[in-house]
Amino acid sequence: MKRSTGNCYLCGTKTSKTTMLRHLATCLAREGRQGSEEVIRLRIDSAGLPEFWLDVEVKTDALLTTLDSFLRRTWLECCGHLSAFTIGKLRYVIARDDWEVDPNERAMKVRIDKALGPRVERFTYEYDYGSTTELRFQVTARATRRAGREPVTLLARNDEPVWRCSTCDAPAVSVCPTCVWNRQWLACAEHEEPHGDCEDDVWSPVVNSPRMGVCGYPG
Ligand SMILES: [Zn+2]
Ligand SMILES: [Zn+2]
Ligand SMILES: [Zn+2]
Ligand SMILES: [Zn+2]
Repeated sequence: MKRSTGNCYLCGTKTSKTTMLRHLATCLAREGRQGSEEVIRLRIDSAGLPEFWLDVEVKTDALLTTLDSFLRRTWLECCGHLSAFTIGKLRYVIARDDWEVDPNERAMKVRIDKALGPRVERFTYEYDYGSTTELRFQVTARATRRAGREPVTLLARNDEPVWRCSTCDAPAVSVCPTCVWNRQWLACAEHEEPHGDCEDDVWSPVVNSPRMGVCGYPG
């Protein structure tokens, strides 16, 4: 994989995915973090397409549903699919009328600090149980800040990767929904043609999201 770079939303610094965590630690410290609001810092990326990543800060009293809404707004929402967080042995799902509660399921309407407890460092999330986009979360810090920001605050985000047309190497604008998972079949505007076993020509736009190419996600 080519080195993935991203942007710090606090100061505009551009750096690599790995270095961004160290950058944020110093950048946030410089900001003066005295405050009483407790937050959990998370690195989020896509299991299948790790060049898509976010660093966010979440208030400890924010609900998992609030984080779910943020992810949908920023990265995922195509047509209102179901979603779930998996934390340890428990799955946190959106409560619905026909919900038959499984012993390992809980409603997503729960505070993130209660769901994570003091020790959980990693957890996962699925959007859409059919054509699933799976995200991974890593707790990178438990900290405090001054009050007054959004419950989920974006700290850093990957730069949009440059994908190349599979035919001519020009920058790609579309992706084949069938081939997106093996990072194959991208096309420039001129080369949106059927290929291999992918008969139909339903192309999806290249966008800055791990939902790229799935379910017609428009970005
Ligand atoms: Zn910064
Ligand atoms: Zn959809
Ligand atoms: Zn081309
Ligand atoms: Zn294809």
